[in-house]
Amino acid sequence: MAYDPQNVFARILRNELPSERLYEDAETVAFMDIMPQAEGHSLVIPREAAETLFDLSPQSAAACIRTTQRVAHAVRRAFDLPGLLIAQVNGAAAGQTVPHVHFHIIPRRPGQALIMHAAVKADPAQLRAHAERIRHFLVK
Ligand code: AMP
Repeated sequence: MAYDPQNVFARILRNELPSERLYEDAETVAFMDIMPQAEGHSLVIPREAAETLFDLSPQSAAACIRTTQRVAHAVRRAFDLPGLLIAQVNGAAAGQTVPHVHFHIIPRRPGQALIMHAAVKADPAQLRAHAERIRHFLVK
C-alpha cells in the first residue's frame, strides 16, 4: 500500500500536530505515546516516509534502533524500571494502528498489567511531567 502522508505521525513530523517530544536528530524523532500502556510509554519514529519495517531503509532502521536504545536508557532511569519492553508491529493484522513505522518503549514492572493498546488518552499535564522526567536523563 502507498504511504499515507496524512497519517498522524507524518503530521507530527511536520509539526502540524502537537507532540510531547523527547529527542530528535536528523533521522529520528522520539515523543510520548498519547495513549500510554504504562507510565513513560514512548515512541521512536524515523523521518523517512515508511509504513512498516519492510519499507524502511537499512540506514534509517539503524538510526531508529540507536535512538530507541538512547531513549530507553533514559526511560529506564527516569522511572527506575526493573524491565522494559521494546515493541514494533507491522500491518493491521499484527495490531498496527498508525501507518508510519515506529518503535514502542514500554516500561514493565512485575505484576503490573499493561493498559489496553491505543485506548485511553493520558492527562496532558501528566504526559508533560513524564516527558520532563525522561528529558532530564536524556541530557546526561
Ligand atoms: P500501533 O498501534 O503499534 O501502530 O501504535 C500506535 C501508537 O501510537 C499507539 O500506542 C497510540 O497510542 C499512539 N498514538 C496514536 N496517536 C498518537 C498521537 N497523536 N501522539 C502520540 N501517540 C499517538
